[in-house]
Amino acid sequence: MSDQPAAPARPESVRLRQSLDALPAYAPGKPATVREGLTAYKISSNENPYPPLPSVLDVVRDAAASMNRYPDMAVAGLTAALAERLDVPAERITTGPGSVGVLDQLVRATCDDGDEVVFAWRSFEAYPIITTLAGAVPVMVPLAPGARHDLDAMADAITARTRLVLVCTPNNPTGTTVGAAELEAFLDRVPTDVLVVIDEAYLEFVDADDAPDAMALHRARPNVAVLRTFSKAYGLAGLRVGYAVAHEPVARTLRKTALPFGVNSLAQVAAVASLEAADELEVRVKDLVAERERVVAALREQGWEIPDQQANFVWFDLGEDTPAFAEACEAEGLTVRPYLTDGVRATIAEPEANDRLVEVAGRFLAERPRT
Ligand SMILES: *Cc1c(COP(=O)(O)O)cnc(C)c1O
Repeated sequence: MSDQPAAPARPESVRLRQSLDALPAYAPGKPATVREGLTAYKISSNENPYPPLPSVLDVVRDAAASMNRYPDMAVAGLTAALAERLDVPAERITTGPGSVGVLDQLVRATCDDGDEVVFAWRSFEAYPIITTLAGAVPVMVPLAPGARHDLDAMADAITARTRLVLVCTPNNPTGTTVGAAELEAFLDRVPTDVLVVIDEAYLEFVDADDAPDAMALHRARPNVAVLRTFSKAYGLAGLRVGYAVAHEPVARTLRKTALPFGVNSLAQVAAVASLEAADELEVRVKDLVAERERVVAALREQGWEIPDQQANFVWFDLGEDTPAFAEACEAEGLTVRPYLTDGVRATIAEPEANDRLVEVAGRFLAERPRT
């Protein structure tokens, strides 16, 4: 008599979240391929081409000697330095491992399952990934002609489920900014219980006359927060530190959704030292902006239609020619960032890399079959 229950099935693999099946993993910028006799440049990640400042390296070296200890979880030194610099109460500042870390905290602080996050598309690739990982729903609003945010369409896309709106200015990867007046008009249309985050990862490179003053908007409106990073202009991409400035109820919740000890001790001291060296860093930023203007002018001279560029990269609106252009760059030792059949983003880097980019682009345009 064997009426014992059948042995439970033994599946071959563990059960994972089904909602993640369709989600692509974040694709980092490709490393440069090394070619004989040709210096290769990785211009696919918007990194700062300058090496760390000696003053910053020094404090990082010193801090490395106590890496057996946990970092200060309150990130007190950096928070105080930022509060003073930005002239806001320290309670409004929250830090995280890169601004993508803070972005994750923002989505988790605002969205329950199925709530919506509105942002432009194309924009920063991490937006849909972080939104979906948190169980929220990305609402992607196509860019307007000129690769700019369509703020009217974004306001129209807000529903009763919207909890968060991301405005990326300058926009990654198209390099365009939103205007101060249009942003103000947009904010007037956003319900005051929906958080608007202005992602200013490239703020330091902006020289447009009509750029918004995000900090002033934050001061004037309880539902506006500002997101910034030390990865780009400050050149600390490898250390991972960014921050948000948000009104207190939001900031308090961001501290709850942060992973404990997210900002490591080397990043904390490096960020403080970088703020202290802001004048030195600004010289570098000015040089990069001058290089951007030089490259954009040369490309337009060749016949490229380049939208107004306000960050540390250039956007090529290439459509179907995107893969071919990326290959042409790769063949000359330049690793750029292609986006399917939308376009290519190329970081402003060392002058030699920039010169080569202009050369490749000129040749590509001359040889491209007219359609
Ligand atoms: C690079 C970037 C960030 C942040 O990067 P971190 O290194 O995580 O601070 C945030 N937003 C945009 C639009 C970016 O391009």
